[in-house]
Amino acid sequence: MASHQLDELERLHRPCGCARLCGRYTRGGCAVTLPAHAAICIDCDNCTAFGADQRKPDVIVLWPGSHGARDRWLVVEMKARGTDAGGITRQLQAGADAITAHPLFDIGGQPAEILPIVLHAKGFNTTAADALAANRIRFRGEPIPIVVKRCGFRLR
Ligand SMILES: [Zn+2]
Repeated sequence: MASHQLDELERLHRPCGCARLCGRYTRGGCAVTLPAHAAICIDCDNCTAFGADQRKPDVIVLWPGSHGARDRWLVVEMKARGTDAGGITRQLQAGADAITAHPLFDIGGQPAEILPIVLHAKGFNTTAADALAANRIRFRGEPIPIVVKRCGFRLR
């Protein structure tokens, strides 16, 4: 990925104050580690691309692939506990929809890949985790499987 795309995303979101460089994202005792320090994390709760009452994921990451991996968007939801696989899937879908349609994500020459991730702690309902892993979101017309991992997951 050209660094100007990271710069452009940061510039577009400067008025929100929602974007920052990140190598690791932590929320409510849950964390995900990214193998690149030049990733940009968008904190969706603080982003004007999403309405206050609108469904949204926790964080959207513009991730420049490392070690041969392709550039990707990551859409991440963190749940310590929960049972609502359908609701979480809709939160991830709202993130994918914002990336494809909202002007705040129009950085030109976007990554073609997206990885929706749910990170959960021990208290998460296993039936819901299985249901999530079987669910798909849609991104540019393609069905994309949801990756379900424990908090602390390190992306390679
Ligand atoms: Zn923003």
